[in-house]
Amino acid sequence: MITVKEWRERLESERCYDLILELFERIERSKLNAFITLNKYEALRLAEDYDRGKINGKLAGIPVAVKDNICTKGLRTTCASKMLQNFIPPYDAHVVERLREEGAIIIGKTNMDEFAMGTTTETSYFGVVKNPYDLERVAGGSSGGSGACLHNESVLALGSDTGGSIRCPASFCGVYGLKPTYGLVSRYGLIPYANSLEQIGPMANSIEDLALLLEVIAGKDERDSTNAGINFRFNPESRRYKIGVVKEMNARDDVMEVFNEIVEVLRGEYEVVEVSLSSLKYALPAYYIIAMSEASSNLARYDGVRYGHALERLDSWTKYFSKVRAEGFGEEVKRRIMLGTYALSAGYYGRYYLKALRVRTLVKNDFQRAFKYCDLLISPTMPTPAFKIGEIQDPLTMYKMDVNTVPVNLAGIPALSMPIGFVKGLPVGLQVMGNYFEENKILSFALQLVRSYEI
Ligand code: GLN
Repeated sequence: MITVKEWRERLESERCYDLILELFERIERSKLNAFITLNKYEALRLAEDYDRGKINGKLAGIPVAVKDNICTKGLRTTCASKMLQNFIPPYDAHVVERLREEGAIIIGKTNMDEFAMGTTTETSYFGVVKNPYDLERVAGGSSGGSGACLHNESVLALGSDTGGSIRCPASFCGVYGLKPTYGLVSRYGLIPYANSLEQIGPMANSIEDLALLLEVIAGKDERDSTNAGINFRFNPESRRYKIGVVKEMNARDDVMEVFNEIVEVLRGEYEVVEVSLSSLKYALPAYYIIAMSEASSNLARYDGVRYGHALERLDSWTKYFSKVRAEGFGEEVKRRIMLGTYALSAGYYGRYYLKALRVRTLVKNDFQRAFKYCDLLISPTMPTPAFKIGEIQDPLTMYKMDVNTVPVNLAGIPALSMPIGFVKGLPVGLQVMGNYFEENKILSFALQLVRSYEI
């Protein structure tokens, strides 16, 4: 697990070219399946440029892995779907432009659940990502590749989080991941799953690295109409925050033990209170209604005409369209398109979609009430540690794994997952939630935790 600081130290005495080459050798030997496409040629060329002193910027010479739903000009971007298996974007996402401007070396595109729909990366057309702590277990999802690669195959990674997809793999792989406030990071060039919920965010091996990557990707971009135009600068505070433990966010007993130990430690240093957010019991179903509804609309564009999987001409348009989509999408994506279409249909719109929007408002209000009273809220990130590959077959049981992460996306607030311990050798994550644009508070608190308790 390499931090930016360690990588920079190595760059003082070694050539960037050799370090990047070593990284690729490791990736090619790896059993994790964290990457879908490697950017070897360009990465090595950039490393050479770095060695010649031609590259500057905040991330000069630092390897970054990019989730495969973020467009990279000239580099295949598949969303881990057969539908886009040959898609080469003609443009860079805003965050990718920012990485390039700051001298980062994009080493490749990371594996994920198909169109970011999942919690384990098992829905990827390119095969499951394995957990670095136990190859028989999942790395989490949907940004599973970005979580797993941080073990030794990259220094920084970008993920996207619609309902927990950064925080879940961060928790399962024992790394740091942050879902920023909705609107802090431009979504331009992020292939959409559920636009009103998702954000691109940083994943890394330390709080400082997370903050550094967030500084680079956050900020103004007029091409995303929901972008807030706000920059981020990390300015660590030493305040003793008031911390709320969210009563409704639970986990299995063994995970709760690790979590409660941390709560006890915190009590010595901070004011810690219990907070109840009663609307959270409706958050999971509301999230899935909204996410699936938006997905059904977003995925209508894959018709085999403009881009993506295509076929020889068939006699009728309807047949062509159905066949392209039947062949191009996997089972989970189809399930969500069907459920989302149903939820939005004339007779059911009021009963499902509108009701889910009302719940969303209640969740937002509940969080606002809590933040009047506390600086930050905490919970276990996931209800369990990483489970076995294939262990959860039933979609509903899988959806329930997101119970602690989705409320954050409904409200649009920022949240971090950081490693706090282990259960039988598997990492456990702490979720730290803050009010809108209070990433600095979240990261300052996390840094205090890391520094004073060496977790
Ligand atoms: N597991 C959640 C879902 O399937 C979250 C996915 C995500 O954040 N992209 O919708």
